[in-house]
Amino acid sequence: MKVSVIGSGYVGLVSGVCLAEKGVDVICVDLDEDKIKVINQGKSPIYEKGLDELLAKNIKNKFHATTDLEQAVINSDVSIITVGTPFDGNKIDLQYIEEVSNQIGKALFKKEGYHLVVVKSTVVPGTTENVVLPRIEKYSRKRLGIDFGLGMNPEFLREGEAVLDFMFPDRIVLGGYDTKSHEVLAEIYSVFEGVDKLFVDIKSAELTKYTANCLLATLISFSNEIANVAASIGVDAKEVMHGVYMDKRFTPILEDNQRIYPSFISYLDAGCGFGGSCFPKDVKAFISFANKTNNPTRLLNAVIDINDAQPLKIIDLIKRHYSSLRGIKIAVLGIAFKPGTNDIRESPSLKITDILLREKAVVKAFDPVAEPAAISYFSGKVKFAKTLADALVDVQVVVILTRWDEFKQVPELISGIHNAPLIVDGRRMIDKFSVPMYEGIGL
Ligand code: NAD
Repeated sequence: MKVSVIGSGYVGLVSGVCLAEKGVDVICVDLDEDKIKVINQGKSPIYEKGLDELLAKNIKNKFHATTDLEQAVINSDVSIITVGTPFDGNKIDLQYIEEVSNQIGKALFKKEGYHLVVVKSTVVPGTTENVVLPRIEKYSRKRLGIDFGLGMNPEFLREGEAVLDFMFPDRIVLGGYDTKSHEVLAEIYSVFEGVDKLFVDIKSAELTKYTANCLLATLISFSNEIANVAASIGVDAKEVMHGVYMDKRFTPILEDNQRIYPSFISYLDAGCGFGGSCFPKDVKAFISFANKTNNPTRLLNAVIDINDAQPLKIIDLIKRHYSSLRGIKIAVLGIAFKPGTNDIRESPSLKITDILLREKAVVKAFDPVAEPAAISYFSGKVKFAKTLADALVDVQVVVILTRWDEFKQVPELISGIHNAPLIVDGRRMIDKFSVPMYEGIGL
């Protein structure tokens, strides 16, 4: 079975390389020539733990990359669409999906034999059947169910853990138009032995992805709402949430009295809000979609409102100590929207840093891997420290905005500084008693 993956970004490249590692023949496609050049040198254009090694191992063997979409489709049995689906301010922007569907249709016109087209991009329910399908039919002049099949296979990987998540999935959701489409999907994913595979219809697969992301985003905004109340009455939200998740329905107790701490409880941590290329745009796209179905999303509207306001809490915390930020020297630790990635899309850190700059603070930033992306975003307005220790020198305030593990060293690193800076912990990741001056969300 040969698979072409169309769109070699975070999802496409990781999916392609991991499927190749699992023994599937993969050809990844992108229209960005520079990206394909880098990939063909065996290097990953994105930072993701373990990806470079797997790419270098599989390149020119089970894994190939090209800008030639037509040849990739003609020379494969299945095409998986992994292009971006941004939010355009009102609704999901399907321009890349539409373009790729046209191109796949044109390539299939020239191809003999059955082909399966699978949408892996996150798309609102109905997109695969109402946007992708008619374009493929129009340009290929082929018949669904006979000459080609249609599938929707949402991706649940988390940036920062993408390779592990793809290699060891908790479930694989396979939406198919008909039995044959399901059979081909099952064959591709047969390399994932023992993993739960859910065979559903296409619209259910599309909705499953939005439901999962909306639930996780809701947990975060819920926790932040409680955290803000806790802080305003002098209570530590961390202690409150601890008392909540020690309920055995959240952290089950085994026979030997050991507790299981599921990773979802991290979504109960107070913080400066969610960002990234998925939660913000997916929740907003889903709200717009649901409204069109005459189902107003009162809860999800609040999830977004809370999240939009949450970065401002960091500014409030600094202003407890400095009423004006003009000339105040501030170190911003973390630009990536979460640890383990260089992705800065919609990172709360960008919003917070922009406010600090607007209020004329002197900002120095540090991020272990997102510096190149951040330099181009801030275009010279922010200086970057080369090391964490450098970032902490000669500043009045240190703001922690990404939960990078190495930021746990902050208390030790500032212990030798004469006038220790105020630490504002946007992720509640260091001990509040470990530094002389501490402020944290939900405290
Ligand atoms: P991305 O922007 O990193 O990658 C998209 C790639 O598609 C880009 O490299 C772009 O050049 C390429 N592309 C666009 N048009 C093309 C065309 N006509 N032909 C070939 N290539 C083309 O996006 P991403 O973060 O990988 O997200 C892709 C999809 O997966 C989105 O729908 C997203 O919501 C979903 N998703 C993302 C994640 C994540 O963590 N990033 C997780 C799950 C699902």
